[in-house]
Amino acid sequence: MISFDEAYRQVIDKSRDFGEETVLLRKSLGRVLREDLLADRPFPPYDRITMDGIAFHAEGIGDERSLKIEGIAAAGAPQMELKNPHSCCEVMTGAILPIGADTVIRYEDLEIADGVATIQADFKQGQNIHRLGQDRSKGDLLVPAGTVIAPGEIGVAATIGKEQIKVARLPRVMIISTGDELVEINEQPLAHQIRKSNVYRIESSLKSIGIDVETDHLNDNFEEIVQRLRKYLYHYDALLLSGGVSMGKFDFLPRALEEIGVEKHFHKVAQRPGKPFWFGTHESGCTVFALPGNPISSFMCTNIYFMDWFRASMGMGIPQREKALLDAPVHFKPDLCYFMEVSTYRKDGVLMASPKRGNGSGDLANLVNADSFMKIPRGKDLFEEGEGYLVYSYR
Ligand code: AMP
Ligand code: MG
Repeated sequence: MISFDEAYRQVIDKSRDFGEETVLLRKSLGRVLREDLLADRPFPPYDRITMDGIAFHAEGIGDERSLKIEGIAAAGAPQMELKNPHSCCEVMTGAILPIGADTVIRYEDLEIADGVATIQADFKQGQNIHRLGQDRSKGDLLVPAGTVIAPGEIGVAATIGKEQIKVARLPRVMIISTGDELVEINEQPLAHQIRKSNVYRIESSLKSIGIDVETDHLNDNFEEIVQRLRKYLYHYDALLLSGGVSMGKFDFLPRALEEIGVEKHFHKVAQRPGKPFWFGTHESGCTVFALPGNPISSFMCTNIYFMDWFRASMGMGIPQREKALLDAPVHFKPDLCYFMEVSTYRKDGVLMASPKRGNGSGDLANLVNADSFMKIPRGKDLFEEGEGYLVYSYR
């Protein structure tokens, strides 16, 4: 059985590019930019007034401090021209500096009466003007391809007129639950049944990173599984299956996946939860994550393997996980890498973790009491209070 680190490495190795697509800027938040964003004009594109007040020529007015007002320059109005060097224009923030003016004084430092503005404060020539091209020149690289688009990038793209933008294409993902015991969430389960929860949990994990998915369900029927999956391999970039990969009489997935030509890279990982995890790829380009049905197992595998595979595929970079210090000792005997549910908090600036162990990988209610998985390594049984291990946050 391979180790967690080896399994994880293999999954990341199988990350791949899904090409690019053009989307509306308004729909591009969180996507990975696939073009350089260049300044189409200087930033700012004209000498921009930064204070409401008056504009005049600092040398032109000499010692005069009471200036006749020639007119008003509003934001959005074409450039005005100051006709007399001893007078001024009222100017508004965002307006273009009038020809013949080089200095702006705000209203707070003026007195205005009878069409004359009297300057009440000292000033410096050139003040309160955001100069043409001061921030960026035309053609400058503003945002390089590969950047994850956040609100700041949206604003830059908007200002250069990018109504549409080229981004990395997202994988088309199908999430499929399996199991005859599962009923829909709007149904009343019989004594031997449970409601589906994995598809909803997995779907929302993917939504949190911006992937829209489709979902389906398969009964524990070999022929039906083979038939449906064969079709899906050619329609999706990734299949996320839950259940049916263990040792049970009705765990048909490993055999079915082999039957339809999915190349197995590994089956079973020395980890808890998620030991039966099966991973493979198909020549169609489809990557198959066949996760164990136990809710904590499928959740852990989705959040660590799938999410990092996705980030690597997008060229996003994988988040650096931090170490947290255990605030209580933990005993764990099996020779498995243990992803223990913990609740993290900061104490004097140090990241701490309280174990929230629950009752194993079927205890789905326990997930709400924790926020992260702590990676407890193999090699010993007792993990002392104060020891530090990596945490993988899932909130
Ligand atoms: P399996 O991996 O199919 O052997 O399933 C392991 C356990 O997880 C069984 O107790 C299943 O009933 C449970 N399980 C499987 N799929 C789901 C699901 N979608 N929601 C909740 N529990 C599930
Ligand atoms: Mg099952």
